[in-house]
Amino acid sequence: MASPGDDERKGLLLQAFSYTPLSSLPALSLVEGLFPLYSSRMSATSLDQVVSLCKRRGFVFPGSEIYGGLANTWDYGPLGVELKNRIKQLWWKNFVHRRSDMVGQDAAILMNPRTWEASGHVSNFNDPLIDCKKCKQRYRGDKLLEEKLGVEAAAVLKLDQVQPMLMAEKIHCPHCGNLDWTPAKKFNLMFKTQQGVIEGEGQDIYLRPETAQGIFVNFKNIAQTMRLRLPFGIAQIGKAFRNEITPGNFTFSTREFEQMEIEYFFDPEKNDWKHVFADWKKASWSFLVDTLGIREENLRFRDHESDELSHYSKGTTDIEYKFPWGWGELCAAAAYRTDFDLSQHEKFSGEDLHYTDPDAPTSKIIPHVMEPSFGSDRIALAVMLDAYTEENVNDDTRTVMKFDRKVAPIDLAILPLSKKEHLIAKAQELYKKIIQDTNLVVDFDVTGSIGKRYRRQDEIGTPLCITVDFGTLGEDAAQGEKDTVTIRDRDTLKQERVAISELREKIAEMWRK
Ligand SMILES: [Zn+2]
Repeated sequence: MASPGDDERKGLLLQAFSYTPLSSLPALSLVEGLFPLYSSRMSATSLDQVVSLCKRRGFVFPGSEIYGGLANTWDYGPLGVELKNRIKQLWWKNFVHRRSDMVGQDAAILMNPRTWEASGHVSNFNDPLIDCKKCKQRYRGDKLLEEKLGVEAAAVLKLDQVQPMLMAEKIHCPHCGNLDWTPAKKFNLMFKTQQGVIEGEGQDIYLRPETAQGIFVNFKNIAQTMRLRLPFGIAQIGKAFRNEITPGNFTFSTREFEQMEIEYFFDPEKNDWKHVFADWKKASWSFLVDTLGIREENLRFRDHESDELSHYSKGTTDIEYKFPWGWGELCAAAAYRTDFDLSQHEKFSGEDLHYTDPDAPTSKIIPHVMEPSFGSDRIALAVMLDAYTEENVNDDTRTVMKFDRKVAPIDLAILPLSKKEHLIAKAQELYKKIIQDTNLVVDFDVTGSIGKRYRRQDEIGTPLCITVDFGTLGEDAAQGEKDTVTIRDRDTLKQERVAISELREKIAEMWRK
């Protein structure tokens, strides 16, 4: 369900404007037909369309581009950061602020390296790498086998079976076509660095490969200081790093990424894990569909096969999105991790991590854990792909990002019809009034023809544009009455003439739809 508070931020905080109220005049179209005719509508058919729009309109740029870039890094521009911030704020609000059984935290990226011994990342977080002896290209042996044998068959292979299997299946080097592989070597995916000022004498530490462990190590502090009773969850948003050999598909898979994770602790004697699992599957799905507005036809659940599961996990269900290259993991809706993590940390740290029931102080348990895990970058990508639309309007193609208004980077644009000084002054007066009286993110754009500016606002997904013209100034009755403006809806292209004094209600009404 969409939360009622979202309207507060957008529409309801709009204050009445102190201008003479005038009755609304009929809509006046500036560049578009009064009745736009759609002949066809298309979603993104390739990733390139969205990558190109991202660059062109300031959502996402290649990382350190002036130096030729750095492979697999991307920087969020002014609009990308607004979009991603909104996704994160909505996630936090949805899962932390609107639930009495959840709290948040923000742990350090650098952690005591014992953490990663306890979690199993030092010994188990490896990819089987193979080199082509001829061209020296390096690949993930399991991925090459997966393409031929399927995920299930490749997942059960041991490290020393990878090379013989590649040879037996005659899987040639994708780069040079040769068939001569080195034996597979374990390659740890954690980024290692050193803490300390003298190179070579510091302590080896890792950039965290997941935020989850930062939650487990704080379990005791948080449960005690916040006087929490099971079941309860701890949420965190933060960067994580994995030195993957084959990242790609734009921001879908990057070595540096941002996680939004929840560890939900419960007593399996009191809460059947299957119910907790089902509840989180539902909550994760609802966040994507009802809060972010991702279309349901582009989403599906996928249960992990038993041989894909980590040894400690009893069940994991992903939600997949229909990316232009096929279905791919969007998030882990729920992963049941049993009591593995807290038990491991108890063993490695020597600290008592049992939970004591305040109503039954003699009963102490290690809580079990359900983990829903999201990535803000991947979700932002899915939101953009989902919003991308090309449509024919009056024999012209327009590209429009049909973002749900809750995630649109800009809420509202104010566009003076021309660059005449007194017109800009009037528009600025309105702009200042709106940003003072509301929490709306408002763009003020004077560059280019009004048609070009509408086109730009469509491409960045701004739900509403307000145009200030000579009618507003009382200088041209043909454009509209004094102190009225034109308000244009991104999706319907409908334009209406509205008195400035009635703008607040008009916007709230349009957003209620
Ligand atoms: Zn090769």
